[in-house]
Amino acid sequence: MKLVFEKSMPGHASVILPPLDVEKKALPENLSRGRLPRLPELSETEVSRHYTELVHEVYGVNSGFYPLGSCTMKYNPRIDEEIAALPSFTGIHPLAPQEATEGCRKVLEEAADLLEEISGMDAMTFQPAAGAHGEFTGVLLIKQYHDARGDEKRRKIIVPDSAHGTNPATAAMCGYEVVNIASAPDGCVDLDALKAALGEDTAGLMLTNPNTVGLFDPNILEITRLVHEAGGLCYYDGANLNAIMGHVRPGDMGFDCVHMNLHKTFATPHGGGGPGAGAVGCKAFLAPYLPKSALMDGGEGIQVRGFAGNFLVVLKALTYILTLGKEGIPQASETAVLNANYLMKGVKEVFTPAFDRICMHEFVLDLSDYKKATGVSALDVAKRLIDYGIHPPTMYFPLIVHEALMLEPTETESRETLDQVAEIFRKVKEDGIREPELLHTAPHNATIGRPDEVAAARNPILKAEL
Ligand SMILES: *Cc1c(COP(=O)(O)O)cnc(C)c1O
Repeated sequence: MKLVFEKSMPGHASVILPPLDVEKKALPENLSRGRLPRLPELSETEVSRHYTELVHEVYGVNSGFYPLGSCTMKYNPRIDEEIAALPSFTGIHPLAPQEATEGCRKVLEEAADLLEEISGMDAMTFQPAAGAHGEFTGVLLIKQYHDARGDEKRRKIIVPDSAHGTNPATAAMCGYEVVNIASAPDGCVDLDALKAALGEDTAGLMLTNPNTVGLFDPNILEITRLVHEAGGLCYYDGANLNAIMGHVRPGDMGFDCVHMNLHKTFATPHGGGGPGAGAVGCKAFLAPYLPKSALMDGGEGIQVRGFAGNFLVVLKALTYILTLGKEGIPQASETAVLNANYLMKGVKEVFTPAFDRICMHEFVLDLSDYKKATGVSALDVAKRLIDYGIHPPTMYFPLIVHEALMLEPTETESRETLDQVAEIFRKVKEDGIREPELLHTAPHNATIGRPDEVAAARNPILKAEL
């Protein structure tokens, strides 16, 4: 499709300005541009068509089934956008006087109270702008705690091999040595491997439960007990809380701090770079180390972002929680888990689950056998799904499963959709048996087929040559 600059025609315009009724004044020379900016010239209809064309180029949750897995976008009710668009919230400035921001402060306090209740924590910050940023903040809490006690020998953070890549990255960013422990054959934490890794140098453990293969670790209380016994602290990666919210709380599992992606579980759409919010909660003994805003709180301790963070994202989370209420929150996670299990049962007839047992909000398929038999890879299958009009699942993650496809249907898909999806997986599998080449070259009807992802990451071209 053509760029908006290529569509531009001199003289086409969509701006109707009111007649000038004041004296015309030129800007001072030193504030003026040397030459006019090069802006596209289009009529209103042309602009509107341009954006509509762009919409058709992308696939989103409004287009159809989007089972990504792990980083899935959950339900983003429109009412949250409406509330977050209210001028009394959008027009506020963080430096506005105290008496003008009471409502906003109340939003932050209420959201903190509710998220503390949901996560089982005692205190909270909304400064971090994303999940990884929240992890960084949370691990800095752990670090400050050990430092304050003069406990300098604790240099290591334990991370299971099924962890999201941001976990080891966070530990390394905070200056820790990362100790990777292999998962047990059942996909959960290997207690013997954990015990062997624990010691006087353990600063903490980073864990997500249910883990990235969608399994709830039945040994969780033993795991957090062992870490505490060794003098370490327990960090909970709560990026996706939709499997457990309203049922189990990280705080009750024995975790000391947690981040929650408000832009995954609590109603803010994500993708395209944000804005998001990685709310970080902690137990009371870590609260003194929470970040403070230099301008708002006087600036003691760490600060990871300006002011109170992405306020409107917090507002959407509060709206979401209040809309669903005490019954709706646990119901959302029940439905998310039910949907994942229903879909797993349907797709199980087609491809092999990596772990064939009741899952939580997501599950992982292992296509190794299928690849051996047909030469068709998980990537080929994912690409072929696009031809059938659904978005591919997360591929090749977690790393502990080869030829992995990870599916998370979320709580908002209907039974009819899940049945159709299982049927599409069956068709794709048959296509691959009958005509492998068709899958090696898929997708056949998308604007972009198989981009060279390595080249795109190493040598990104972010500017059009005009
Ligand atoms: C998405 C995700 C993260 C990172 O969150 P970002 O907002 O993308 O930084 C961390 N852990 C898990 C399990 C996730 O799914």
